[in-house]
Amino acid sequence: MGNENKHGLPRDIPAAVKREVRQRCGFGCVVCGLAIIQYEHIDPEFYEAKEHDPEKITVLCGACHDKVTRGVWSKEKVIRHNEKPKCVSAGYAADFFDIGETLPIVVFGGSEWADTPTIIEAFGETILGLSLDDDSGLVQISGVFHNDEDQEIFRIDKNEWKGSAGNFDIDIVGSTLTVRKEKRKIALKIKVEPPNLFIVEEIDMVFRGAQISGVRNKGFKVVAPDGSTINVHTLKAESCVAGVNIEENGVSLGYKCKKLRF
Ligand SMILES: [Zn+2]
Repeated sequence: MGNENKHGLPRDIPAAVKREVRQRCGFGCVVCGLAIIQYEHIDPEFYEAKEHDPEKITVLCGACHDKVTRGVWSKEKVIRHNEKPKCVSAGYAADFFDIGETLPIVVFGGSEWADTPTIIEAFGETILGLSLDDDSGLVQISGVFHNDEDQEIFRIDKNEWKGSAGNFDIDIVGSTLTVRKEKRKIALKIKVEPPNLFIVEEIDMVFRGAQISGVRNKGFKVVAPDGSTINVHTLKAESCVAGVNIEENGVSLGYKCKKLRF
């Protein structure tokens, strides 16, 4: 697949255009309101588009996008929803991600991480991280998700869904966001507790030979590819470069923190 269409338009949409589309659509999928989104040219579709006109681009979540791609939903349906985005009327996405003006405290297993944007890093990549959107003030999630065979199934880059919808899904019900790698197999379950708690209720991931698992109040466990293991039950940390840093030959906890208390 090329990176340009027949008119020489590159696939990547400039950040300023994305921002305009995101704001117009209320920061969520125009059909279902999910805040993990993809940008999609509508009328004309990308292969015929000559420019990245924010008025002609919409946002869809991976699952809704997939239904359009497979022809289950018509283009007209998307155009109709684009005119009345779900989040503008219902506020779904904003509700989940609106948890204050500073980074929330992340509760992970029995540990607590304040002012720590990267919760889990492995081999230099962010496996789970948070940031604040400059425009909306909403919290944004970044993450990479692998299936049990250790193949990447998709990634989220600051709430932008990268990759196609396959054997996994994301849903947000009330204050809980769940990522499933297969039916009934949870990779990540996050709960938001206003004013500023971001709780990892459940995590079960493999990433390039490393294993990360945990359940709220029961601690978490990380195993590096060389077998080095850490088990964490209670810990409080502040201003870290990374909460958990996984390398080929080891795992470190509280990487470059200003404060760390076991
Ligand atoms: Zn959707």
